[in-house]
Amino acid sequence: MRDATSAPPVSYYDYIVIGGGTAGCPLAATLSHNASVLLLERGGSPYGNRNITDLEAFGAALSDLSPSSPSQRFISEDGVINARARVLGGGSCLNAGFYTRAAPEYVRNVGWDGKLVNESYAWVERLVAFQPKMRQWQTAVRDGLLEIGIVPDNGFTYDHIPGTKVGGSIFDESGQRHTAADLLEYANPRGIAVLLHAYVHRILFKRRGTVRPVARGVVFRDSAGAKHRAYLRRGPRNEVIVSAGALGSPQLLMLSGLGPKAHLQAHNISLVLDQPMVGQGMSDNPMNAVFIPSPKPVEVSLIQVVGITQFGSFIEAASGENFGGSVSSKDYGMFSPKIGQLATVPPKQRTPEALAKAIEDMKSLDSSAFQGGFILEKITGPLSTGHMELRSRNPKDNPSVTFNYFQDPDDLRKCVEGILTIERVIDSKAFAAFKYDSMTFESLLNLTLSAPVNLRPRHQNTTTSVEQFCRDSVMTIWHYHGGCQVGMVVDREYRVLGVDALRVIDGSTFNHSPGTNPQATVMMLGRYMGVKILSERLASEAA
Ligand SMILES: Cc1cc2nc3c(=O)[nH]c(=O)nc-3n(C[C@H](O)[C@H](O)[C@H](O)COP(=O)(O)OP(=O)(O)OC[C@H]3O[C@@H](n4cnc5c(N)ncnc54)[C@H](O)[C@@H]3O)c2cc1C
Repeated sequence: MRDATSAPPVSYYDYIVIGGGTAGCPLAATLSHNASVLLLERGGSPYGNRNITDLEAFGAALSDLSPSSPSQRFISEDGVINARARVLGGGSCLNAGFYTRAAPEYVRNVGWDGKLVNESYAWVERLVAFQPKMRQWQTAVRDGLLEIGIVPDNGFTYDHIPGTKVGGSIFDESGQRHTAADLLEYANPRGIAVLLHAYVHRILFKRRGTVRPVARGVVFRDSAGAKHRAYLRRGPRNEVIVSAGALGSPQLLMLSGLGPKAHLQAHNISLVLDQPMVGQGMSDNPMNAVFIPSPKPVEVSLIQVVGITQFGSFIEAASGENFGGSVSSKDYGMFSPKIGQLATVPPKQRTPEALAKAIEDMKSLDSSAFQGGFILEKITGPLSTGHMELRSRNPKDNPSVTFNYFQDPDDLRKCVEGILTIERVIDSKAFAAFKYDSMTFESLLNLTLSAPVNLRPRHQNTTTSVEQFCRDSVMTIWHYHGGCQVGMVVDREYRVLGVDALRVIDGSTFNHSPGTNPQATVMMLGRYMGVKILSERLASEAA
């Protein structure tokens, strides 16, 4: 990999992959074995950055709001603070590491080839998936889930099976993260060029003399602002493939002239194709959590265990001094005030200065004040959907996104059942050592709510109505997806409808989030589609 400043002004490849993320890396690595591939990533390298590699620094990358941060914060119109990746390896460099496959039923419904899916998961797992070391707090959550009937005990497995299991992790035994960027080890070095800090501004189309617009290249800028063009070499199978993630992919299609006509015209973008579904079907699985202060010290852990219930809610947990943040920096991890969760400042007064002061104040507290963990629930689907719109023509600006959490009553029902299940886990015998007897469930809900975990208004009945608790304390588990969905924007082979030589392959194509957590399936999809595209290419060359 090298910096885009060293790239020539014009270059030619068989495949141009936009976005070196969770799907883009395995895809480019696979394609490089029989074609020339350019992989363009707007962010830098994950290697040598301890905020990415170390488990204990989970919150630090999310808290870094500098322009060179691997994480770019966005706040949805729903008032929930969220993050998107900006680094080679994409979301797998920021995430909580939990690795788990999609259910066979999901694979069947999407219409994927089951055998190739299993081979592609195994290809990913050989390099980046590990069995986590279970310690006392995670074990207590697992035993609590089993005690209250989330059975059977499925032990350690990557498979999605109802009951309770220990899943995989992309953190190895020593707490070091392995990301999708590691999958580039599989690449053919002679077939691939990986450019960092290469910001794609536009996909170029040929329109004259063709029935439909045909993608022919991209315009990208390096960190010095210099413009470069990369074009597809001549050949019927050559393609531009967008893997820029659930915000980046629909945003880039719109910036390139594919999207709702009136919206593009309002931004003075010349229309290539009126495609009203680009940016539609955006969903984020709501996450709601309950904080449980612990009378005794607990390990630092990210997600290791999941209870897969019959009612469509997944129960997971994370723990540790400072809730998974780094102890030395007193960065409060997943619930850091810096990442907008567990802030002590009321939403409207949450200026950077006020947050800095809140963090300072927290530093003076004894670390036992933060001893404990949280049990969370995430719902399947979800059924509620929203949409995305451009705010500007600058690809660096976040688009405006609305997820409409709990708009569908069924999503709310699943959340309520999930929270009531968490209550039973906390009350289980297995978990007894990790909670204060004097604290009622209502007081735990109150504690959670007293932390402005989002920018949404609070209501009086929030601790007496679980529905209201779900709505008021909703957070993200960062599994947002959609915007370029199969059947709406791309066909079942991920080809963009209405144009040629262009595909989208990443989480933006999902109608529902796969498995309990999506990254395994996103990486699998990159490999799976790489194999399919190459075999079509080889078949056409042989014909
Ligand atoms: C904090 C956090 C915790 C999570 N926890 C888990 C977990 O524990 N387990 C799990 O399974 N999943 C988890 N997820 C979700 C999972 O990581 C994502 O679903 C997945 O990484 C999305 O992959 P993607 O390929 O669709 O997008 P990404 O991985 O985001 O890749 C998109 C890439 O495109 C690049 N890009 C965007 N626009 C441009 C442009 N214009 N030019 C060039 N490059 C561009 C981006 O920089 C990025 O690298 C988590 C996510 C986050 C953020």
